[in-house]
Amino acid sequence: MRFSRLRLTGFKSFVDPTDLIISEGLTGVVGPNGCGKSNLLEALRWVMGENRPTAMRGGGMEDVIFAGASTRPARNFAEVCLHIDNHDRLAPPGFNDEDQVEIVRRITRDVGSAYKANARDVRARDVQMLFADASTGAHSPALVRQGQISELINAKPKSRRRILEEAAGISGLYQRRHEAELKLKGAEQNLTRVDDVVEQLA
Ligand code: ATP
Repeated sequence: MRFSRLRLTGFKSFVDPTDLIISEGLTGVVGPNGCGKSNLLEALRWVMGENRPTAMRGGGMEDVIFAGASTRPARNFAEVCLHIDNHDRLAPPGFNDEDQVEIVRRITRDVGSAYKANARDVRARDVQMLFADASTGAHSPALVRQGQISELINAKPKSRRRILEEAAGISGLYQRRHEAELKLKGAEQNLTRVDDVVEQLA
């Protein structure tokens, strides 16, 4: 599974549709201050399911929508589309039918975010799991933002362990365990309720 193209529309400073071809190997982004390098990295995190506005340097998620400039009005939506080369068929089940997987996230003012995978509506969780199982995702250590190296050096052992778990691709398992525990708790509560009813009837 390899990222092959990123397309941004109305996302932060990328008001017009902008396509980036991602070649094989390491990708670096260079450019003058304020040209949108960090915005690009944030677009990548965002399409993979990032749901913390602070990680997007905003107060609310709608802050990722182009806010307007002296010569251009604000936009009503932002969209990021990520193309994944799946010729090696490494995408998890449910996403693995085609050679290309196209993930789209769109946010519309006063409506919120919606996701599509190969033009099919999917949930945020499905997209987050897809990338977590592929050892990448919004929190992936493969995306290095400014200041992250010094944060890593100063991090507590617990935070460092989380980074290693992300890299090893087991963070999806933690999420599944958490969901299974919630279901188990719900089932236990239902059983207690059944016991109460049986007791009342006896
Ligand atoms: P540096 O090298 O200084 O870190 P950079 O290349 O990483 O800069 P970014 O931080 O990605 O640049 O981009 C900053 C620009 O994006 C600023 O000009 C800011 O006004 C613009 N910007 C951020 N959010 C929005 C938005 N919602 N609408 C319009 N422009 C935005």
